[in-house]
Amino acid sequence: MIATEELSGPPPARPGHVDLGLVRRQFPGLDQTVHGRPLVYLDNAATTQKPRAVLEAVSSYYVEDCANVHRSVYALGERASRRYEEARARVQRFINASRPEEIVFVRGATEALNLVAHGLRARLGAGDEILVSEMEHHSNIVPWQLAAAATGARVRKIPMTESGDLDLEALADLLGPRARVVAVTHVSNAIGTVNPIAEIVSVAHSAGATVVVDGAQAVPHLGADVQALGCDFYAFSGHKVYGPTGIGVLYGRYGALDVLPPYQGGGDMIRSVSFEGTTFAPLPHRLEAGTPHVAGAIGLAAALDWLASVGADAVVRHEQEVLAHATRVLRDVPGLRIFGAPRERAAVLSFELAGIHPHDIASIVDHEGVAIRAGHHCAQPVWQRFGVAASTRASFAAYTSHDDVTALARALARVQEVFAR
Ligand code: PMP
Repeated sequence: MIATEELSGPPPARPGHVDLGLVRRQFPGLDQTVHGRPLVYLDNAATTQKPRAVLEAVSSYYVEDCANVHRSVYALGERASRRYEEARARVQRFINASRPEEIVFVRGATEALNLVAHGLRARLGAGDEILVSEMEHHSNIVPWQLAAAATGARVRKIPMTESGDLDLEALADLLGPRARVVAVTHVSNAIGTVNPIAEIVSVAHSAGATVVVDGAQAVPHLGADVQALGCDFYAFSGHKVYGPTGIGVLYGRYGALDVLPPYQGGGDMIRSVSFEGTTFAPLPHRLEAGTPHVAGAIGLAAALDWLASVGADAVVRHEQEVLAHATRVLRDVPGLRIFGAPRERAAVLSFELAGIHPHDIASIVDHEGVAIRAGHHCAQPVWQRFGVAASTRASFAAYTSHDDVTALARALARVQEVFAR
C-alpha cells in the first residue's frame, strides 16, 4: 500500500501560504488544452479536479487491496476493511466529530440529506413545520417537501435579504412551537454566502428544532468543526473537496443519528435476519446497507490528507485573495452585475452580463478554454428572489490563480465583442 503522506507532496514553501506552482502540478487534469487553449477551470463549486494523491489512493485499493469489507477473513479483505474504517476515522478527525460511529458514508450530500429527511419522517406530524432557507440547493429543499407530503408537515421558507444573507430576524419569528427542523446551508453554492451556523443552531435549539446543515460548499473552503457548530446533522460530498465522485458523508450527533430508522435494508446493516424478524447492526453500519464505495472512501480520506498537507488556513487565505481579486476584476467589466454582497462570501461569484444569456456566455468562454457554469445551479428559489431565470457562476479552489481570473475577464470581453457585432 502506498502511504498517503508520500503522495501528498512536500509541504508548502512558505508556511501558511499556498505554493501555487506546487499545488497545480499535483493536478494532472489542469494540464490540458481545450479548443486549443490552456484549460482555465472555474467550475469548482460543481466539482473539483483531483490531485494525484487521490488518484493513486483509489488505484492502490483496486490494485493491491481489492476485496469486500467487513466480511472476509483473508488478508486482502482485512486490508480493505482496515482502509475503509481508517477513512471513516480520517473524516471524523477532519470535521471534529466526537466518534467514528457518527460518520456515515453515503453517495454524496444529496443522499445524506435524503437519508435525514426520510429518517425524521417518523418524528413529524400534521401541522409541524420544517424551516428551509431560501438559498438552499434543491437537495436540501425537495427531500423536505417529500417528507412534508408524507407526514402532513409544512415547509416554510426562511427568507434571504437582497445582499444574499439569511434573514435571521425572520428565522427567529418563524421558530414557533411547531418548528421541528431547520435545514440550512453552511455556504450557498449560488451566492457564496457563509451562514452563521453556530448562531442559527443556538436559536433553533432554544426553540427545540433539529438542525440539518448542508456543508457541500463549506468543507472544501472553510472546513467544518461539527462540535463547534453544534448542529445535529451535517452533509457533504467527496467530489467537491478534491475526492472521488460517488462518495459523501452524513455526520450525525450520536444521539440524533441513533434514532434514525434504517434507510435501506440489505447486507452489512443487520445483526441477524430470519423470517420471524430482523435485528439491526449498531451505527454506523445500520445506515450503510450493501457493499459501500470502498475506493471512494479511501480516495476521500486521501483528499482530506492532501488538503491538510497544503494547510486548510493557507487554502482559505488563498481563496479569499483570489475572490477579492476576481471581484475587483469583474466589477470593471462593463454591464456586469454580481449577485448579492453577503457579509461573508466563500469562493463563488454569480453574475449577469446585461442582455446576454448565461448559456451564451458560458459557451463562448468555453471556446477560450474557460470552464464556468451557466444556469440555475440547482437553486431556483435564489434566482426567483433576484428576479432572473439563471446566472453565470465562477467558483474557485486551492489551485486557482490570478491568471485564471485574467483569462476569465479576457474571455468575457470576447463575449461582449461577439454580441456587439
Ligand atoms: N448542496 C450544495 C450546496 C451543493 O452545491 C451541491 C452540489 N452542487 C449539493 C448539495 C449536492 O451535492 P451532490 O450532487 O454531490 O450530492
